[in-house]
Amino acid sequence: MKNKIIIIFLLSFCIFATLFLISCEENLTDQNKTEVSTKYTTKEKTEKMQQKNELQFSRESAYNHCKNIVDLSPRVSGTESHKRVRSYIKNEIEKNNLKIIEDIFVTKTPIGDVEMDNITTTIKGTEENGNKIILAAHYDSKYFKDEKFLGANDNASGVAVLLELLKIVKGKKYKYDIEFLFLDGEEAFANWSDTDSLYGSRRYVSQIKSIRKINAVILLDMVGEKNIKIDFDMNSSPELTDILIEATQNLNLTSCFSKRFIAIEDDHMPFVTMGIPAIDIIDFEYDDWHTKNDNMENISSKSLENVGLITLKMLDILNK
Ligand SMILES: [Zn+2]
Repeated sequence: MKNKIIIIFLLSFCIFATLFLISCEENLTDQNKTEVSTKYTTKEKTEKMQQKNELQFSRESAYNHCKNIVDLSPRVSGTESHKRVRSYIKNEIEKNNLKIIEDIFVTKTPIGDVEMDNITTTIKGTEENGNKIILAAHYDSKYFKDEKFLGANDNASGVAVLLELLKIVKGKKYKYDIEFLFLDGEEAFANWSDTDSLYGSRRYVSQIKSIRKINAVILLDMVGEKNIKIDFDMNSSPELTDILIEATQNLNLTSCFSKRFIAIEDDHMPFVTMGIPAIDIIDFEYDDWHTKNDNMENISSKSLENVGLITLKMLDILNK
């Protein structure tokens, strides 16, 4: 009997212990479930908050940059009004609390020695290995002896998109450094030639220490025309043209493409010649090109926005 009682006691203890363990396990599972679900909700919340906080490309702001630059123009390298545009660009960089680097140099041109200034600022990437993607646009305007050339589309438009992109890229966490490069001296002073053109970009590449550190160069030139039609430039690197097409398709903006395939000489050329992947985003079919009618009447804020969004999407793809 005694034994029986002990056996019954032991059996009861075993059943009780098993039930206790099962109940604990259930509690633990429930706890885990709660933790996972809390984590998931928090992650979702964070993502939503990030999306909310992420700045959107403002077409109005880009348009205003373009107008402000045109109001200060002409921007012929070496002139006083050119200096005012330099100050405008630097001021915008400062507003974003970014460091300005200027490369001021004097170069020979057909109209004599001219002072030029390549302005850069860099938004650091998370990888911290110095690899970078360059976003570039020339801010000088073409010299005409007897004409006030404003260059709204050529190329206050490209500069305006870059200035708007500054604050957006600053809020992102890209893998690679993003360098904004405001180039001087793209325009020829007399006739376009190897020596009379692309002063700023030729100067820039002459100072590159390692071409391997530059993953890509995206150049914006003449990107503000109404109903923009981006040309397929045969001098641009094919791998970047593929990325441009991918980005444009992702955004359902393929209507922004022209059907033209042309070879364009622009500030991307010195990079391409050095073996650095570079692309020119340009709509070269422009009736008022290098005429006094290249003014704000030709500028569409929607085109500036579309090019800004395409550039951002290209950055997303290049930073994968
Ligand atoms: Zn031009």
